[in-house]
Amino acid sequence: MSNIVAIVGRPNVGKSTLFNRLTDSRKAIVDAESGVTRDRHYGKSEWNGVEFSVIDTGGYVKGSDDVFEGEIRKQVKLAIEEANVILFVLDVAEGITEDDKVVADMLRRGKKKVFVVSNKVDNNVRQGLSGEFYALGLGEPHNISSISGSGTGDLLDEVVKALDKDAEVELLEIPKFAIVGRPNVGKSSFINALLGKERNIVTPIAGTTRDSINTRYTSFGHDFLLIDTAGIRKKSKVEEDLEFYSVMRSIRAIEDCDVCLLLIDATLGIEAQDLNIFHLAEKNRKGIVVVINKWDLVEKDTNSTKIYEEKIREKLAPFKDVPIIFTSALTKQRVLKAIESAEKVNESRTRTIKTRELNDVMLPIIEHSPPQATKGKHVKVKFITQLPTHAPTFAFYCNLPQYVSEGYIRFLENRLRENFDFNGVPIQVFMRKK
Ligand code: GDP
Ligand code: GDP
Repeated sequence: MSNIVAIVGRPNVGKSTLFNRLTDSRKAIVDAESGVTRDRHYGKSEWNGVEFSVIDTGGYVKGSDDVFEGEIRKQVKLAIEEANVILFVLDVAEGITEDDKVVADMLRRGKKKVFVVSNKVDNNVRQGLSGEFYALGLGEPHNISSISGSGTGDLLDEVVKALDKDAEVELLEIPKFAIVGRPNVGKSSFINALLGKERNIVTPIAGTTRDSINTRYTSFGHDFLLIDTAGIRKKSKVEEDLEFYSVMRSIRAIEDCDVCLLLIDATLGIEAQDLNIFHLAEKNRKGIVVVINKWDLVEKDTNSTKIYEEKIREKLAPFKDVPIIFTSALTKQRVLKAIESAEKVNESRTRTIKTRELNDVMLPIIEHSPPQATKGKHVKVKFITQLPTHAPTFAFYCNLPQYVSEGYIRFLENRLRENFDFNGVPIQVFMRKK
């Protein structure tokens, strides 16, 4: 269902340079708005109309200059488990090293599609050297230079062919909700509260629950699929591994879902890693419900919910129009409310607003506050329509789309949000030439 491309390889072969090249355009947009500094180890990319997530597994290795073989093994293992396609990056100037052989052995045994990427092929002389990599037994090497970008287009042509192009097309019509969040926020407990105790076993030690399972829930008039990322495997003992594993799981779950319920530990508040997941969902244009769990542990007076909510919203900016639900998985308080909220978000996300209604509401608003004239040019919006995409997208047809500012586009988005309920739903606004 999902499209995940993992970049693996020993340190210094150029993994992060390649990662930046594959994800740059998107990163700029989102980072600039949120003002949040984030780990740049995963991002969205698109080629020939196929969207996919890119993960730089090496980015998770601390002090990558003297990594132990074991560290590399761990990254590759995760990539084999979680990715659809693996880019195995090698340094053509150095040829095959012992570490490369370790990676190659694992990749040959894993059943995933692997592309051998011969990096640092900056000139013709180096092209001839790549032939050496056939010896790894993983097929034809693809010559690229991550620094200049040469060869990356041809590589991506092949990569997207190998990906599931129909990732968006879903067989099951029921809504899919993903329960995501950092280790220990209460994902297992939340799912237990929903599905009943016997369903799985929760222990107080982070990462000791079973593997993730998708469950169809059909009680009390509800019908949805739960994508559960709680199952962090026992083998990860170190905090960073857990963190890394949960990120990998979250990426997959977010790709697969319609709405994600992002669980936050109320006693810790929202942190960088939570925001990573939030922005990932936003970038994927999935519905979002923020769930503040362990609310029973927070000392409360009359205003505390409101104050807490305000603080959370500030951190989520600019995408603040999301439901925030305060739960206790322990006492089952408002767990079902969180689900109902996800159902509502899903409805808003899949609804199509009639062109007539859209124009009746939006044209008078635009008339009243038209885009400012730039360089003596007046922008005239003629009509608006919702495009038949899987997440709400609106096209505003006008004479001079290139003269409409980002600020005005945001203004239009906000008016759409005020007039049509898109709580928890990322929406896109495009200006198009009429
Ligand atoms: P990583 O440790 O695998 O993520 O490697 P980096 O992306 O950090 O790159 C390691 C070094 O190789 C850096 O100095 C990069 O500038 C350099 N590098 C990456 N790609 C290329 C390339 O295509 N050509 C050349 N000449 N150098 C590159
Ligand atoms: P996961 O790693 O996200 O799946 O988190 P778990 O469900 O395993 O929960 C981690 C710990 O937090 C366990 O000790 C739970 O009992 C506890 N916990 C989970 N939800 C709540 C809650 O709403 N209130 C309180 N007080 N504890 C909770």
